[in-house]
Amino acid sequence: MVYKPVYINPASPGQPRTSVLVIYTGGTFGMVYDPKSSQLIPFDFERVLDRLPELHRLNFEITLITLPEIIDSSNMKPAVWVELAQIIQTNYDQYDSFVILHGTDTMAYTASALSFMLVGLTKPVILTGAQLPIGVARSDARENFITALEIAAAVDSAAVSTAAVDDSTGIVNLANQQKGKPIVPEVCVYFNSLLLRGNRSTKQESVQFNAFSSENYPHLATAGVSIDYNRPYIRPYQPDQLLSLHTVLDPNVTILKLFPGITQPVVESIVNIRNLRGLVLETFGAGNAPTDSWFLDTLKEAIGRGVVIFNVSQCEGGRVKQGHYQTSKQLDQIGVVSGADITTEAAITKLMVLLGLERNPAVVRKLLAQPISGEMSE
Ligand code: ASP
Repeated sequence: MVYKPVYINPASPGQPRTSVLVIYTGGTFGMVYDPKSSQLIPFDFERVLDRLPELHRLNFEITLITLPEIIDSSNMKPAVWVELAQIIQTNYDQYDSFVILHGTDTMAYTASALSFMLVGLTKPVILTGAQLPIGVARSDARENFITALEIAAAVDSAAVSTAAVDDSTGIVNLANQQKGKPIVPEVCVYFNSLLLRGNRSTKQESVQFNAFSSENYPHLATAGVSIDYNRPYIRPYQPDQLLSLHTVLDPNVTILKLFPGITQPVVESIVNIRNLRGLVLETFGAGNAPTDSWFLDTLKEAIGRGVVIFNVSQCEGGRVKQGHYQTSKQLDQIGVVSGADITTEAAITKLMVLLGLERNPAVVRKLLAQPISGEMSE
């Protein structure tokens, strides 16, 4: 696939500077109001500079590409995650970092999926978007995008000690200097002043600007007058790693959210879906579920057929502790895997990736129980 690039702030020959590849996928960020249909529709992103002339003031190269189909992120599919991962791999040597502009609705799923698909990542991949379209005066698009770019381009100051710092802007000028180590070499979501680990993020709010939270993992940075990085929690830079991709995602997964009064036919019809291989079971509190024998027998029979069941709490904060209460002990005994403090978004995408990699359910269960990209605590 050939994407038509827009170049902003290209470096002069012989003067390398940090370069960021921006991939625009759609979402509210780039929408404009269409009076004819009274709907928000995507605008021509190649004209982004008309809306954001301040991009010229950033002291690094920016290249923008647009996916062939601009989507509301409610239409996000694993095939697009594969496309994004492949774009990153193809451009990995050429760019220092990546920013993905994405609708907020499923951004946490995409961030989680990419964190599992981009194996050996050592460069920043920052997802951002907006709650209000860029064409609206009070839009949050500008701040989110520009700070996401700055975070993507940020390098460790110790590694660029000889770089010139512009006193008025505080921007590190990398022209003629050796490039430094990226500060955030992992997949993140940046939104409303907070940088979150991508596979720890959840969309928590659809009206206010604070769309994302990360209940079970500290913020990786807070952007105020300066951007303060929470370094002990950021994945360390490991220069020796080589990027490879997991691009086979098994679609035969589902999520079953429990509620008081859930009936046997409902549970059975979900668990007996043809070809089902993975189930995220959204349980109560610390991973608790009904102890009715029909319920446990249905799950046990499914596990016996090779369905992998992953226990994730409906609570955003806290964690699953299988065996802590009598109502979770039997889940443990029948072979349900504890999701500890994982989000549902990370759990379902982790299942898709692991089932795409491995046929043996026992091996999948083992891999599922361990953190593979910082998505859960041990
Ligand atoms: N429906 C939009 C989307 O996720 C919402 C947004 O971008 O904020 O694409």
